[in-house]
Amino acid sequence: MAEAQKQQRVLAIGAHPDDTEVGCGGTVAKLAQQGWEITYIVCTNGNKGSHDPSMDIYRLSALREQEQQAAAAALGVQRVIFLRYNDGELEPTPALRLELALYVRHFKPHAVYTHDPWRRYMLHPDHRAVGFAVIEGLVSARDHLYLPGLEQIGYPVWRPEYLYLWSADDPDYTEDIGATLELKLEALAQHHSQIEAGSTFVERMRQRSLDQGQSAGFAAGEAFRRIRL
Ligand SMILES: [Zn+2]
Repeated sequence: MAEAQKQQRVLAIGAHPDDTEVGCGGTVAKLAQQGWEITYIVCTNGNKGSHDPSMDIYRLSALREQEQQAAAAALGVQRVIFLRYNDGELEPTPALRLELALYVRHFKPHAVYTHDPWRRYMLHPDHRAVGFAVIEGLVSARDHLYLPGLEQIGYPVWRPEYLYLWSADDPDYTEDIGATLELKLEALAQHHSQIEAGSTFVERMRQRSLDQGQSAGFAAGEAFRRIRL
């Protein structure tokens, strides 16, 4: 595949509505400003993410899709694909792995961003499940004996250049997001159902970006474990 065709496309894959903003929102906004085509895949409907006793799972999943669309629009993301698995029940099954591999073959991204499944002491099972399913899915996207027959109908193998793992246990790459930090925070603020009254969530995210940037010599940053594929 010609190098030029690998440029300018990114896939960001998160477990819940809001994970991609937390993990790589500043990076995504920066790439979008440079003309890159960004696709989000949100694996679950986030329908357990509430402490409001009056909330129910149907209303919450609809609300969170709207919030995710608004956040993506603030960052310049072209499209959001919702897989709509139930929150908290995701597993890195062969079926999920192949589903993600299909999107990788279809969109042909230069880079993929997702959760670091090896992060120590990470509580949320969906974050681990998505991280592993993406990593394993990249192998299925790359090797022609997976998904046999798809090459015949226009889905040849695809190997992105890089995988970036956010909230990484052992980051080795920091993206300078000094120019897009405010957009990241604006996108995070769209997730109203996740921000309780008096919450310092957005401010904590600002501080985290300042801290991650500082260790790399930037005003603000997003740190990743970068794996060359
Ligand atoms: Zn999450």
